[in-house]
Amino acid sequence: MSTLPSSGMTERDEIAVVGAGLAGCLLACFLARRGYRVALYERRPDPRTGRVERGRSINLALSERGLDALRRIGLAEQVMADALPMRGRMIHPVDGEPQFQSYSAAGTLAINSISRGALNNALLDAAAALPEVRIAFDHRLVGLDPATGEMTFETPTGKTTAVAPVVLGADGAGSAVRGQLLGHGLLTESLDFLDYGYKELTIPPLGGDFALDPEALHIWPRGTSMMIALPNPDRSFTCTLFWPTHGTASFASLGSPAAIERHFATHYPDLPPLAPNLVDDYQHNPVGVLGTVRCTPWQVGGKVGLLGDAAHAIVPFYGQGANCAFEDVVELDRCLDDCADDWAAALPLFQQRRQDNAEAIARMALTNFVEMRDKVASPVFQLWRRVEHALERALPGRYVSQYELVSFSTTPYAEVRRRVRRQHRVLGAVAAGAVAALVGAVGAAVSRGRR
Ligand SMILES: Cc1cc2nc3c(=O)[nH]c(=O)nc-3n(C[C@H](O)[C@H](O)[C@H](O)COP(=O)(O)OP(=O)(O)OC[C@H]3O[C@@H](n4cnc5c(N)ncnc54)[C@H](O)[C@@H]3O)c2cc1C
Repeated sequence: MSTLPSSGMTERDEIAVVGAGLAGCLLACFLARRGYRVALYERRPDPRTGRVERGRSINLALSERGLDALRRIGLAEQVMADALPMRGRMIHPVDGEPQFQSYSAAGTLAINSISRGALNNALLDAAAALPEVRIAFDHRLVGLDPATGEMTFETPTGKTTAVAPVVLGADGAGSAVRGQLLGHGLLTESLDFLDYGYKELTIPPLGGDFALDPEALHIWPRGTSMMIALPNPDRSFTCTLFWPTHGTASFASLGSPAAIERHFATHYPDLPPLAPNLVDDYQHNPVGVLGTVRCTPWQVGGKVGLLGDAAHAIVPFYGQGANCAFEDVVELDRCLDDCADDWAAALPLFQQRRQDNAEAIARMALTNFVEMRDKVASPVFQLWRRVEHALERALPGRYVSQYELVSFSTTPYAEVRRRVRRQHRVLGAVAAGAVAALVGAVGAAVSRGRR
């Protein structure tokens, strides 16, 4: 599918993609497939040769939306070769045995734990193998003229500039491209940070094997805090502890090794025996921030565009940020198809098609925090999940839970919310009807008894 770039581009012009993270690399592959030449600028050195940052989201859950995008460039099989399928949640109470809750009615559908670094490297390899793609590492974007497409980069040897007919910001939640548009008064943004941060901890293999069930996403719901753990191919688990950043019960409140040990022994008693480096991890791994980024517009003049976290970072509680960023790339490709590669038409269309969906998953991710932190352990929630699974089995394809629609389909996120609301309304009406019928029957029986 080779098309000649429009918008007055010549064949020698390169589209600039800023950020060789997950979305940026995938986007470079998709654009090259369309016949564009792409310059991919990344502030970091080549991660395939460097060291991994300590305590920064080592693994992530990849589900249908991300896989759908990877399939389109023939990478899904390679990525899935090292993935660990997680078929449900394993809930760890403070006392008692862990309980498994399947994600799907049949228990067969799974989200996939994958190494973020390995995924990024696979995408980098795929992009680097394409003759149309040129990757410039150690290039941090620090300036952008949205009118001319002139970019300024800081490199280890000083500042350098480049010009592109189209500049696409795939440079993550703290996007410099978004910052430049903001600085030029061309965009408004809102950043809603949670009071919660996150810290990564490790459960190493135990006797050469996984210390916990590797086919589950483990959750320790504790009301005001929560920990999750995802399995890694080396048979370790990466735990992520979510906790307020400040206050009496917070990351700031554990000042000594003894306090750390006491805290985990009290609230996460099954963890210390499995995590010999707990205190060291806790003391040395950074606390990451969590928040929702909203901005508008996502493009300026059909010349500068934003996608992935740069346009709409979300909190990680639905495991959808990367999946959503990958879906952005698929949709932008579709918009270019629909606009015959006219960027001035395709970028506004992309925003129009994606913004409501990004907002929908942002809201669902925030709601899911409450569900994971508080509700998953409650008997009422567990009963509701069983009812939902029964309904899914009784009405296949007609009743589908929100989790299944989000994680195991590519139904647009905004449509998922609408459909789930409809399903709940119908259920509510059926339940109300059943109660009314029951009350009527009881009333009739009572008056018969009186007569
Ligand atoms: C704790 C945690 C857990 C998560 N778990 C999941 C999960 O299970 N499933 C899921 O789908 N998502 C998850 N996410 C979200 C996911 O990580 C992001 O949504 C995803 O990485 C977004 O991809 P991106 O390419 O838009 O941004 P990024 O992955 O952040 O990539 C941005 C790239 O741009 C580069 N860059 C930044 N600034 C500049 C600059 N000035 N110049 C040049 N380059 C620059 C960066 O170095 C980076 O390589 C999680 C996030 C967190 C924090």
